[in-house]
Amino acid sequence: MGIVEAEGIITREIKYGDSSRILTVLTRQLGKISVLAGGVRTNKSGLLATTQLFSHVSFQLFQGREKSLYKINSGDILTSFSSIRESLTKMAYASYFCEVANDVIQENAPDEEQLNLLLNTLYLLAGDKLPYPQIKGVFEFRTLALQGLLPDLSRCSVCGEHPPAQFHPLSGQCYCPSCAEKQSSPDTADTGEAVLCAIAYIGSAESKKVFSFSLSESASNYLSRLGEYCLELYLERHFKTLDYLKNVCELGG
Ligand SMILES: [Zn+2]
Repeated sequence: MGIVEAEGIITREIKYGDSSRILTVLTRQLGKISVLAGGVRTNKSGLLATTQLFSHVSFQLFQGREKSLYKINSGDILTSFSSIRESLTKMAYASYFCEVANDVIQENAPDEEQLNLLLNTLYLLAGDKLPYPQIKGVFEFRTLALQGLLPDLSRCSVCGEHPPAQFHPLSGQCYCPSCAEKQSSPDTADTGEAVLCAIAYIGSAESKKVFSFSLSESASNYLSRLGEYCLELYLERHFKTLDYLKNVCELGG
């Protein structure tokens, strides 16, 4: 038995027995871990507040005989992100961001950049700092960049000189208008220079500045749709929470 300190974000919870939960926590020190939060659904434990979904917390944990499952000794809330849990739409976005992060951050493999991206994304979502499609698009393309899966969209793949206006996600190629005329790829999307320039920026900007650009509403929406398509394509995964998010957005108009 040993005590370890870990700071991270609670990205998933499963009810366990009558009063306990098993949490997935993405931590700075240990990567993805499972934490048994025993008796937290009764008010007596005092841990109810520190074990809520999406919270950014600092835990003291016991590592028991079963090495893959930790138990909570004590916890402090760093940011509760309570406004996310009060809105169905924000919950749907946050659930999607967390499912993606759970997929790319592994056990025993801390990924500080990816964790910081999730944290910054939740801050912006909680505080309504940017339009949701832009927050989502940045999260998606930055995740691909951090995982080494984002194609270079800063220059035309053929001539290597001009800024691209079209992007072919399946091949990862992008084309300037004059090179695009010579291509015959049927699903080459006419993405537009503004969106491709934004994606290139998202891939290369400093972490703190990755969200700092402006796009028109229609370009933001396009960025978001292209982001979810590329994320599932390049990670070779389907995210159930994305279906749920789309349903919630449709209901909300
Ligand atoms: Zn070209």
